[in-house]
Formats: sequence, structure tokens, C-alpha cells
Amino acid sequence: MNNKTFYLETFGCQMNVVDSERIIDLLAGIGYQQTDEPEQAGLVLLHTCAVRDKAVRKAYGHLGRFKPLKERNPELIIGMGGCIAQQEGKQLLEEFPYLDLVFGTHNVHRLPEMVQQVAEKHVRCEETDFLDRETRLQLFPSRTGQEAFTRFVTIMQGCDNFCSYCVVPYVRGREISRPSAEILAEIRELAEQGVREVTLIGQNVNSYGTKEEEISFPALLEQVNGIDGIDRIRFTTSHPKDLSDELIDCFGRLDKLCKHLHLPVQCGSDNILKTMNRGYSRERYLNIVSRLHQVCPDIRLSSDVIVGFPGETEEDFAETMSLLEKVRYTEIYSFIYSPRSGTTAADMTDEFTAEAKQKRFNRMLDTQQEISRQIWEADVGTVQEVLVEGESKKGAGQLFGRSTWNRIVNFSGPEELAGTWVSVKITKAFRNSLLGELVEPSM
Ligand code: SAH
Ligand code: SF4
Repeated sequence: MNNKTFYLETFGCQMNVVDSERIIDLLAGIGYQQTDEPEQAGLVLLHTCAVRDKAVRKAYGHLGRFKPLKERNPELIIGMGGCIAQQEGKQLLEEFPYLDLVFGTHNVHRLPEMVQQVAEKHVRCEETDFLDRETRLQLFPSRTGQEAFTRFVTIMQGCDNFCSYCVVPYVRGREISRPSAEILAEIRELAEQGVREVTLIGQNVNSYGTKEEEISFPALLEQVNGIDGIDRIRFTTSHPKDLSDELIDCFGRLDKLCKHLHLPVQCGSDNILKTMNRGYSRERYLNIVSRLHQVCPDIRLSSDVIVGFPGETEEDFAETMSLLEKVRYTEIYSFIYSPRSGTTAADMTDEFTAEAKQKRFNRMLDTQQEISRQIWEADVGTVQEVLVEGESKKGAGQLFGRSTWNRIVNFSGPEELAGTWVSVKITKAFRNSLLGELVEPSM
């Protein structure tokens, strides 16, 4: 009998998370149920990320783990999608004889047909062609009808920025914005189903609409702000070069916009910013930060930083460290530079040893951890508004939610509070979360 259960593992960014949600829906449409155990599944899928070598090695490691499953059960279908699949295409089928299907970043919608083909005709297949604009516009992932109080909504896809280190423009294709009417309709529907907070996502959300005859990103935010039932709005990821004054003003003007912005700086030195092709200077970035604080004094920022980019001198690195001290991010996602084949930086001479990069990386981590610790410690004693999302991972009658600053807050309380707003007095700060006590249900 056909085993119609599937196991899905997702790596990488929020774009993959949303595409994986779509995969779950699509596979349900052909009668497949999800399972947490690959050993039980008739179909196993890896949804991969190619942004750094570490992610790639991890994906191949996990793929290798599926090989014995196939040896035990030759009927098992194994598939790989996402950015590695997009980059490697057919090559993957040649390299991994136990792999049955490969689907690219523009081909998620084809998955049901591909799975059926493999199951019925016992063929192996690969689809990694980029789609034309018109077809892509029809295929933005959306998912309503699921119980959750917070949701991602895709508003654009792709990237035209070509930062010299980054593989994303090659594996995700050109930038394209979803029609605003469709975005707003989806959010209205989500609100009706009980969703209270939406995060607008895309590789580069603040250049929304610039390539089409669409409303601007600030105008889109304003319209989302007007939707009844939605109480909070976030967006990610933003590029500093496209952060307009009008968008900065939104943080002072739109009551539902959370007071947190993820604004990846990548590095603090003008020389390196230039070779990274980031399109802004240190000064311009710092100007944006100070204007954000002018319109919204208690806004908090987080960032991405790359260490060990080719040619990064000790002075360049010191500039990054001093920028961290100046901006005082709540947290940073820091990465050791990883050369990606096909990008322009891959051809730059990289004279660093892995050890030297690791040393700088550790110094940076120490500095940032101290800054983060000071920020979160200062929150102890304050009362914060939290949207209760459900039972905490900590279990034991604990609930969790997030503050406007996107920080996880755990506290004790009855389950019925899920989906409501509460005030929580912060009692203790941990590295990844805050602990608090319920003050009173609010709103
Ligand atoms: N579009 C987003 C995020 C893209 S990838 C942006 O522009 O901010 C997420 C992060 O991965 C990047 O911000 C960058 O810090 C990191 N990254 C991308 N390519 C990398 C590489 N080759 N080596 C190390 N880190 C990289
Ligand atoms: Fe990559 Fe730069 Fe595009 Fe971000 S903006 S996805 S870092 S090329």
C-alpha cells in the first residue's frame, strides 16, 4: 500500500518557512499527512539554504541520513528543494543516486505533480527553471485557515542588490512585489480568523513596489495599520540603502508598528561596505539610526554582521566593533564570511586563516553579548505588553509571548490567555528570553 505520509525538514530564512507551509498545504491536497518521524514516512523532503557553507554541509549531512532509510524501504521517495536545489539542479540527481526529486525556489507549486510522477512512474525528476514575472505573480505563497495568533505574510520575493558575498540573487531570482490588494485581502482574512500580529516578509521588503506600479512600502504599512483586528505589524528584512525618510516616519506615526527594526549593517567600515556593494556608508547608516531614535525614542534595533570579509583589516574590524558600541543593538546575527561560488567576492583574495576569523568573531560576540545583557537586564522591573502566543517551551504551566521589541517573555498563567494581550512585569533576564509575572489582563 502506498505510504502517504511525509517528513519535512526546513533550513534557512523565513522565506523557506513560508514556502514549507505551502508545501504542507500542497501535499495535503494529494492526500499526504505530515509526520515527525522520517522512519515512518513514504516521502522525505529537505528544504535547504545555501547562504553559507555551514548550512550547505548540514543539508548534505541530513540527506546522507536518509540513505539507509531508502535501503530499507526502496519505495521511499526522497526530495530536495530550496536554495541548494536551485543552485545545483540536475547535478544533485547524479551525485546522490538515492535522491528522487529536486525542486527549485520557483517550483514549489509543482511538487504535488512531481511526487505523483515519482510514485506512479518510478522516474526521478528535477525542476529548477526560473519562472517569468506573470507566472510568479500568480504564485505568491499564502496560507490562511490555520490556528495561530502571529503570521508571516509574503509581500515580495527575490533580490536585485547583488551584495558581492551573497548567493541569494542567484538562487531566488529577480525582485518581484506582490499586488497590494492581494496582500491586504490576505491580512484581512487572517484578522477574521483571529490572527493579531503579522510580519511582512521578503528578502528586501523596503524596496517593495519600486519595480512595479504599486503603492510604496510606507503606504502599504499605513493600509495594514488600518485593518481591524490586527494589533501589531512587523517587517523583515530591510536594506539600509532603501530606508526612506517616509518609512522612518512610520515608526513615529503608525500605532501598530512594533518598535523594533532588523536593519542588517554587515560591517562598520566604509572600505568593506564598498567592496560588499552595500550602497551606503557608515555615516549614512548611523544617520538613519539617529533619525529612527528621533521619531521613536524607544525603538530597538538588531542586525546581521559578517566577520572576515576578504581584505578586512584590523582597522576595518575596529570600525565594526565601534559601530556595535554606538548603535547598541539588542542582538546581532553574526557570521564568519563564507565564500559562495558564483558571487563576485568569491574571486577576491582571502588571506585570512580560519583561526584569525574565529578570533575576531569571538571578540565581537563577547562585546555584543555584554551590550545585549545590559539592555535586557535594564528591562527587569518594567511592565511590558505581551501578545500571548501559547504554551511556553519551558512547559510547567508557563505561557509565552513577545514584547514590541520582539523579545520572548515567559510567565505563568492560564492557557485561556492565548491570543490575548497581557501586561507582564519582568523579573529576570536570560540570554534568549525574559521571565515575568502576570500583572493583569489588558485590552
Ligand atoms: N536580505 C537580507 C538577508 C540575506 S541573507 C539582507 O540583505 O539583510 C542573511 C544574512 O546572511 C545576511 O544579512 C548576511 O549577514 C549573511 N550572509 C549572506 N551571505 C553570506 C556569506 N557569503 N558569508 C557569511 N554570511 C553571509
Ligand atoms: Fe543578499 Fe544583499 Fe540581497 Fe540581502 S540585499 S539578499 S545580503 S544580495
